Parts: sequence; structure tokens; C-alpha cells
Amino acid sequence: MTTSLTDLSHDDLSALHQQLSSEHAKLAASGVCLNITRGKPSPDQLDLNADLLTIDVPSHAEDGQDVRNYGGNRGLPEIRRIFGELLGVDVDHIIAADNSSLSIMHDLAMFAVVYGIAGQQPWFGRNVKFIAPVPGYDRHFSICEHLGIDMIPVELGEHGPDVDEVAKLASDPSVKGMWVVPMYANPNGVVYDEQTVRALVSMPAAPDFRIWWDNAYTLHHLTDTERPALPVLQWAEEAGNPDRVFELASTSKITFAGDGVSFLASSKANLDWYLEHAAVRSIGPDKVNQLRHAQYLRDADGVRNLMRAHREILAPKFAVVDEILTRRLGGRGVATWTHPTGGYFITLDVMDGTASRVVALAKEAGIALTPAGASHPLHHDPHDRTIRLAPSFPSLDELRDAMEGVSTCVLLAASEKLLQG
Ligand code: PMP
Repeated sequence: MTTSLTDLSHDDLSALHQQLSSEHAKLAASGVCLNITRGKPSPDQLDLNADLLTIDVPSHAEDGQDVRNYGGNRGLPEIRRIFGELLGVDVDHIIAADNSSLSIMHDLAMFAVVYGIAGQQPWFGRNVKFIAPVPGYDRHFSICEHLGIDMIPVELGEHGPDVDEVAKLASDPSVKGMWVVPMYANPNGVVYDEQTVRALVSMPAAPDFRIWWDNAYTLHHLTDTERPALPVLQWAEEAGNPDRVFELASTSKITFAGDGVSFLASSKANLDWYLEHAAVRSIGPDKVNQLRHAQYLRDADGVRNLMRAHREILAPKFAVVDEILTRRLGGRGVATWTHPTGGYFITLDVMDGTASRVVALAKEAGIALTPAGASHPLHHDPHDRTIRLAPSFPSLDELRDAMEGVSTCVLLAASEKLLQG
């Protein structure tokens, strides 16, 4: 039966609600424990890189540096070359650091708050704002929240946010940044198009306004259409704003999420500014791990091949989510969801006003979902509508059970709401 819930008579809706309540009670009693909260690679994906744990690592890098010792703040040329090619960035414009690009983002924000960017005033104690496309990545928002940076949400459209709206916001000199996940955005899989990006790098903005271009998923295609990374640094330079972009990436979802290499790509001036402060914080990154990665991955094609192996594991999981949502929720008028061609997430939009209830019902049924509101600044989803699904970690069987359960919760929450009038 695919009748929309809104078309059901009151009696039919009551009957459906009862049936869903007893399905939910059975689930809750079954003692299942499923978790689709975070975009972690599955054990199968980690096993793809088993050799990384045993590979021999030489003591010296190609430029003669002893990787066991201190120093080398820019990271090893061999790993920067591989990721420079993949990101379309010249090797001189990319530096390699430790395992987390989020740490670099946090450092960049801290340095801006404490020291200021590009000779401008430090942000500390001033009313600084960031443009935050929504839905977005909760940990980006946490950095802002933690440092007292206000966020202005803008809706993320099919190819990025509305550039006129963004340009208007950026014309306010207290707006200092914008979060962008340009390829396969977390959580809705949006891919920014060239027109949008060119507008973002050319719009007038404060001298210390930066686009925080988080390329966490640029190599993470779920289909055989392998789009190249957008050459954002080049476009920024062509637009006369070479310092506009901080570009971030990492191997977290390529090799080991807890033991990879992260990257910052930017203009010479920005990298010098970052390194000036980073050099006080650390005497150099983990170069043994960087060399291990360079030896293991070999070259850009090595990474591309590895990403195809990840895809073989991930794509069936995304297909299962879509299949179950389509079968259980298609035509019921209670939810829409995204069909990403890359990345790690699916966004499930449920009936307005029911996302928190769905998450609570799922919890009672032993299914952990990302908290409702997580994809919005300050956890405030004004429509209480958006839920992020992360299908990567569970096995296919666990994922099937979780999605059947989630579907029941979505229908139950919607029928409750409709019955309440
Ligand atoms: N950026 C985005 C958009 C992410 O989704 C994630 C991981 N969930 C990260 C950054 C974290 O990156 P890293 O592991 O390099 O710190």
C-alpha cells in the first residue's frame, strides 16, 4: 500500500498507528543494538589497508630527511606530491600534517582568534560571524560554537548555496568565514558547481574572510563517474583573491581514520601565516607515518584504485538504504531523502516537526541515530526535519535491520503527529 498518510481517513490512520506502535514495541523488546550515527569506515574498509601496519618504512625521505627526527614542518614532498596531484594543487601550495584535518581547521580558527589573519585584528572579543550552509557538518559548527563565532545559516541548494545571498552576507566586514564541503557534502551529498565556486572566490569580502574548503570527500565517489577536484585555488587566484581559500583534506577515509595524514593547501601567504604559528605548537609532524603512506599508496593512481575498492564496499550499503526507504516510505508523503553519488552520508528529511521524535523512537528501539538538529548551527533545525544517516560502519545485515527500524519510526512519528492534528 503506498497511500500518502495525509490521504488516510482518521480510522485508517489510527489502525496504522496501532500497527506501527506494536511493530515498534517488538523492536524495542528485541534488544537490538545498532548504530548509524557517525561516518566511520567499516572494519572491512580498514582491512583493505592491512599492509599499512606491516610495510617497511625507510628511515630517510627522498630529500634525505631523517623521518625519525624532529623538523620538516611542511611535511614530506613525496606525500604532498601525491595529494597535490589528486587535489589539483601545486606541491608548493600544499603541506602535510598529522592525522586530522579537523585539527588543522581548529588551529586555523584559534590562530585567527588569537593572532588575526593577514595583519588584521585578532577575532577575540569581536563579533565575528561565519556563513554556515545547512544542512552541514556538526564538527564545523562546534568549532565556531566553541570559539564564540556566530553562524549564519544559508540553505544549501542542489549546486551550493544561493550566491547572491552569500555575497550579501559576505559584504558585512564582521563576516570572516564560510564553511564549504564542496564535493559530496556532509550530510546531503551536494556537489558545488563551477559557477557557484567562481562567484564565492570573486565576491567582495573582508580581507581576513576565508572560505574553509573542506575537501574531506573529494575522492570518495560512489559511482564510476570520478569527478576531478575543483581547482578552487586557481580560480581564487584568477579572481584576484589568491588568499581567499583554506583547503583541507586527509586520508582519514582512505587509509586509517585514526592514523592518517592531513593536508592544508592554500596561497603562499596563508601557508606562511599558518606555519609561523604552527611552528610554535609543534616541532614537526609525524613524518614516519607520512613516508609509510607515500610508500604504501605509491602515487595518485594508487589512491584512485584504493578508492574504487572502498566504493565496492560502500556503494551496496547506500543502495540498501535507498531500497528500504523507497519500499517503506515511498509514496507515503512522510519523508524525502538524498541520492548521493559520493561521500559518506544520506540526508533523510522527515515530516516537519518529527525529526526529534524519530530519533527518540529509534533510540527506544535500540537504533542510535545522529541527534536531530546536529546538521544545523547550535543544533537548531528550525523545521525539526533533518536526520543524517551514516551507512558506512554497520554490516549490510545490520544496516538492513536499522533501516527497517528507522522506517517504522518515521511512519510512527508521522502518524502520531497527524492524529494529534
Ligand atoms: N570534514 C568533514 C566534512 C567530515 O565529514 C569529517 C569526518 N567526519 C572530517 C572533516 C574529519 O576529518 P579528519 O579525520 O581529517 O579530521
